[in-house]
Amino acid sequence: MTGRLCELCPHRCGADRFGGSGAGFCGALDKPRVFRWGPHFGEEPPITGERGSGCVFFSRCTMKCLYCQNSPWSWKGAGEDKSVEELAGIFRSLVLDDKVENINLVSPTPYLPFIREAADIIRKEGIKIPYVWNSSGYERVEVLEEYRELCDWALFDLRYSRDETARRLSSAPGYVDAARAAVKWAYEKPGVDLIVRILVLPGHHEEAIENLAFLATELSNEIPVSVMSQFTPAYKALETPPLNRSVTEEEYEEVVEAAADFGFENGWIQGYEASDPKLALLGENMTENHGVVK
Ligand code: SF4
Repeated sequence: MTGRLCELCPHRCGADRFGGSGAGFCGALDKPRVFRWGPHFGEEPPITGERGSGCVFFSRCTMKCLYCQNSPWSWKGAGEDKSVEELAGIFRSLVLDDKVENINLVSPTPYLPFIREAADIIRKEGIKIPYVWNSSGYERVEVLEEYRELCDWALFDLRYSRDETARRLSSAPGYVDAARAAVKWAYEKPGVDLIVRILVLPGHHEEAIENLAFLATELSNEIPVSVMSQFTPAYKALETPPLNRSVTEEEYEEVVEAAADFGFENGWIQGYEASDPKLALLGENMTENHGVVK
């Protein structure tokens, strides 16, 4: 990858990070950097399965969300650089020792070339495992296509429906078109299973509703959605109203009602208290969401 300028995400900042000249917008460099890994049992039920999802949390991120709960590694880069062989070792251990259902790549985009090499290593050893591309949705379709083999599951957010908000809260210009195109790609791609996460943000619940409207009218209300109330003020949100508070019950109820009105019946709805085990069900096929890990 030496000399290849990075255009892996919609920033297309062209950093010469693989040639060793320095980081781009996201801060990622020329080695995969991992914060932590292990089996998780709090993802959506098809991802968690019985044996847990093998989450690998990558350091750095292509978005800079003011409210990020993972800022020590997403913004500040906590973690350890790994060689491709070491990354393959993490994957191997998750599959063979922990016997996870899948490898869940959390914010993988800056490291896709290394992840593919690591996945190739274990594949050549005869290890078969599905991959979850767990993402903010801020992706390029060309890149999704190029790394298709890392996307058996597309676990994508639709976070914003207005570019001004995406730019201000997450430094993600062009988010709306990028994320909607990524979701459309996953919906239409044969063999890719899609779940769309709708995290309701305080003061911006209309954007969650607008994204549900987009799904229902432009794609299908049969797409599994995961509607989440779990926003908690963190990091720079503490000094950025209205992100310095939780979502109100009224805001959240409006989104839940909109999901029902648009006819979504597949997916999961967190209770207003995300930790409350008594969860509302939207449609007959809706099942409980046992606390999503993000
Ligand atoms: S992944 Fe990082 S370095 Fe690459 S284009 Fe995006 S922000 Fe720039």
